[in-house]
Amino acid sequence: MDFRSDTVTQPTQAMREAMATAIVGDDVYGDDPTVNDLEVWAAERHGFEDALFTTSGTQANLLGLMAHCERGDEYLCGQQAHNYKYEAGGAAVLGSIQPQPIENNPDGTIDFAKLKAAIKEDDCHFARTRLLSLENTIGGKVLPMNYLAQARQFVDEHGLSLHLDGARVYNAAVALNVDVKEIANYFDSMTICLSKGLAAPVGSLLLGSREYIAKARRLRKMVGGGMRQAGILAAAGKLALTEQVSQLAVDHDNAEHLANQLAQLPGFSVVIEQVHTNIVFASANDDIDIAHISNQLAKEGITMPSNNSMRFVTHKDITKSDIDRFISRLKTFL
Ligand SMILES: *Cc1c(COP(=O)(O)O)cnc(C)c1O
Repeated sequence: MDFRSDTVTQPTQAMREAMATAIVGDDVYGDDPTVNDLEVWAAERHGFEDALFTTSGTQANLLGLMAHCERGDEYLCGQQAHNYKYEAGGAAVLGSIQPQPIENNPDGTIDFAKLKAAIKEDDCHFARTRLLSLENTIGGKVLPMNYLAQARQFVDEHGLSLHLDGARVYNAAVALNVDVKEIANYFDSMTICLSKGLAAPVGSLLLGSREYIAKARRLRKMVGGGMRQAGILAAAGKLALTEQVSQLAVDHDNAEHLANQLAQLPGFSVVIEQVHTNIVFASANDDIDIAHISNQLAKEGITMPSNNSMRFVTHKDITKSDIDRFISRLKTFL
């Protein structure tokens, strides 16, 4: 039982079989039919002209930002954005692109007044503001659809492009009960992680216009992300999108169940209203030795956070009865 992340999910049996039998070729030559199928299918499925299979979500974001921005350009993003805070500064280091982070509201949105104030005028003192990058879900929270519509209007008014870090965009779509295309529609480009709750072993997608993806494809080669018989991975990636999406609703129910159970434990608190999808933030009073409990439970094969400010992530390899067992073990320590 591993609560650290949905990235720990094991590939399904169907994925293992599809990987074993995938027809492959050299994808750098454009010869891998399984990669090509995934890219063509994913572009159509999400309402974009083209798609690119990448090694990771971090790489998809990096290529995505670099394909929008040149050296000395900047992108606006949230202070909590994965592609600002958790990607080793890649856009700045490798793309010479300046991030302009703006504080996120507690619901994950960013105020348009603050975004507007951060757009630089055309003046040689400033970086050129090119792009707004949003994230959905962000910290497990779903951005409201009307916020996305406002973001589209905002970028159109200011001549910017709009990127979505959609690592968990399917969690957002499932939580909102909308087709993922309705979310994707607002954006010029979008990433999707296949290797989180959707359970593929490796890989992400970057989606955008034909010209944009051609640029990203060149950049992918530059950063060493051109893979050869990558159809082995793409075969599992396609199943992530065709067979695993319905699992996310179960993960969300389980997260809600976990949040409710944790909230009832003495000395624990959870902001239940912020649990929209498969991520639960909880905190325990200082007099509870979470590090010790975590250590003890690790011996029983339960991996939970080790400090008092905790993040739990549900996924297909944790069932509701696992959660009940976890809660009952936790109670024995309290
Ligand atoms: C996980 C994640 C990424 C990066 O994905 P990796 O495949 O781990 O590199 C990007 N953005 C968000 C919001 C994520 O949660």
